[in-house]
Amino acid sequence: MSNSAAGGASERRGVLYVVSAPSGTGKTTVVERLVQRVSDLSLSRSYTSRAARNGESNGVDYNFVTRERFEEMVAADEFLEWADVFGNLYGTCATDVERDLARGHDIVLVIDVQGARQVRMRYAQTVGVFVLPPSFEVLEQRLRGRSKDPEEAMQRRLRTARNEVAAFAEYDYVIVNDELEACVERLRAIVLAERARLRSVRLAAEAIVASFRERAPQ
Ligand code: 5GP
Repeated sequence: MSNSAAGGASERRGVLYVVSAPSGTGKTTVVERLVQRVSDLSLSRSYTSRAARNGESNGVDYNFVTRERFEEMVAADEFLEWADVFGNLYGTCATDVERDLARGHDIVLVIDVQGARQVRMRYAQTVGVFVLPPSFEVLEQRLRGRSKDPEEAMQRRLRTARNEVAAFAEYDYVIVNDELEACVERLRAIVLAERARLRSVRLAAEAIVASFRERAPQ
């Protein structure tokens, strides 16, 4: 259902989705598929001080900035949230998010657990989704399969994953990425259900009810 399916709903404020999962869970792929399939929903582009990996480009995967520039943005209070993840800085630009939400556009932030906590403190109405891997073994296998990280970095990722999964109960929804397509569809179902919530459709529904007051016999 699009935002306007229940009538002209441009006054509706967008919904902010916050998706977290340990590194290696496949959350980026899941969310990229989700935004291709659901209208009026886009993925927020974070800023990061880490170097672009092969195949990544500036302004597409991330806004890549120097650590110095990132720290200037922190000092100028430009981030809705930011965090140090594996020694690199990552953050969400507050004005980008606010502009999209004010336009009635729904946004997904794919951020770590620390960042999600900061967002919840700033915005009362977020929809949090935690994506769990099916098991520790599956996550370890996926991480080892895709990465040429030295063993020490691998141990650090696994330790971080252990702390992150323990935070699942801070989120509104929890889904397991056992099979990519099934996981995308679970996430899509969450977005569709959230769009039917009273607080999301209230303005549009009131407009429909007003047309009854004007035209229907008493
Ligand atoms: P990667 O370097 O593999 O792209 O991302 C590493 C981690 O940083 C992931 O867990 C991802 O969720 C997190 N991350 C990416 N962007 C942001 C952001 O804007 N804020 C926060 N807090 N974490 C982020």
